[in-house]
Amino acid sequence: MFDKILIANRGEIALRVIRAAREMGIKTVAVHSTADADAMHVRMADEAVCIGPPPSTDSYLSVPAIVAACEISGAQAIHPGYGFLSENANFVQILEDHKITFIGPSAEHIRQMGDKITAKETALKLGIPVVPGSAGGVPDVATARTAAADMGYPVIIKATAGGGGRGMKVATSEKDIETAFRTARSEAKAAFGNDEVYMEKYLQKPRHIEIQVFGDGKGGGVHLGERDCSLQRRHQKVFEEAPGPVITPEERARIGRICANAIAEMGYSGAGTIEFLYEDGEFYFIEMNTRLQVEHPVTEAIFGVDLVREQIRVAEGLPLSFTQSDLVVNGAAIEIRINAERLPNFSPCPGKITQYHVPGGLGVRMDSALYDGYTIPPYYDSLIGKLIVHGRDRAEALSRLQRALGELIVDGVDTTVPLFHALLQDPDILAGTYDIHWLERWLETNMG
Ligand code: ADP
Repeated sequence: MFDKILIANRGEIALRVIRAAREMGIKTVAVHSTADADAMHVRMADEAVCIGPPPSTDSYLSVPAIVAACEISGAQAIHPGYGFLSENANFVQILEDHKITFIGPSAEHIRQMGDKITAKETALKLGIPVVPGSAGGVPDVATARTAAADMGYPVIIKATAGGGGRGMKVATSEKDIETAFRTARSEAKAAFGNDEVYMEKYLQKPRHIEIQVFGDGKGGGVHLGERDCSLQRRHQKVFEEAPGPVITPEERARIGRICANAIAEMGYSGAGTIEFLYEDGEFYFIEMNTRLQVEHPVTEAIFGVDLVREQIRVAEGLPLSFTQSDLVVNGAAIEIRINAERLPNFSPCPGKITQYHVPGGLGVRMDSALYDGYTIPPYYDSLIGKLIVHGRDRAEALSRLQRALGELIVDGVDTTVPLFHALLQDPDILAGTYDIHWLERWLETNMG
């Protein structure tokens, strides 16, 4: 059993992990940059170690600094949160070499899923349905043209090393294939230091449906249903819900079983998410995330489980605390991501919080590292809080979200809260009839 773990992250997710650890009687070590000396995760952890200057490359992404902090503090394991080093196989390898436990899957599984071409090949082998696309990387424009002609336009060109919605370009006809190919490649090179791209059929009206999975690392695996994360801006999620409003229990059981079997066969350890596009009753694998997701609380709400606690238990070598038949969907949950950004352009808006009031009451959860008087530094991403509600059904969750949002006060900086006030009046949101392109269209009409 661990008696002390280090959290290699900041913000709300660092608090999330500290909370789970504390309930398990495990001490916590926070790491922070000089810009985060007053951050909530530093205050809430049992110990804190400063690991470098503000830029994340010199602090939250600095492997030597984090390993040193772990050794100095005597922590036995590291929880990476999401982002930063959470899907960095080299980091995990280094921890293995230092006999520090990584709370997450093996370096090998991270590597396998981090390269999207290998991930798709692995998915196919494991019996998971994938989006039709190129067989492997596409080296030049001529190959791209042939592949596009074979699968039919529109097509999407994506970075093999991609993430965060970057390095993706759509070509609607042969005349834009060359530009799309070259732009995707140069964006991929700039963002990931790797210009390899591959191609997929571009689906016109899919929903983004992802399956939460958990592996015990010993050949056992379960699924915790789906989350619908179709409401996206620039391929980034802004609103997530579970269960998916259009997924039937039969579909959940079918795709869930395929995913759970795949995880078991891989010998996967810990939390993972298998992402699909869903159109006309068919699921198409796009990628797997080998970590905890930002939107994990909606799954926790409907199944009544603590996914971080489970991650820690699995890393300790304990069996899963639930079996597939224990996991029964209870009601509906919605999460909204609140960013410190100025509408309508979503430009980052760091600054000092002058007043902060958190909503409460039945079925309301606010995961945030804000406090009155806190200054949001300009160096990191703009997520400042997640408001999660749970109701007996989707309609109750929606009215609870409207009610909770009305109680929330974040003064001093601009936030995306007004966007959600408006969205929660929209008939398509209320009916659950939206696809991955819906929000971009809505923003153009309502905020363009
Ligand atoms: P990233 O790792 O950068 O998040 P993903 O492969 O997960 O990239 O894709 C992110 C989003 O991009 C998807 O949720 C979807 O909105 C869109 N997308 C990706 N592939 C396709 C496709 N083949 N057709 C249509 N949209 C796509």
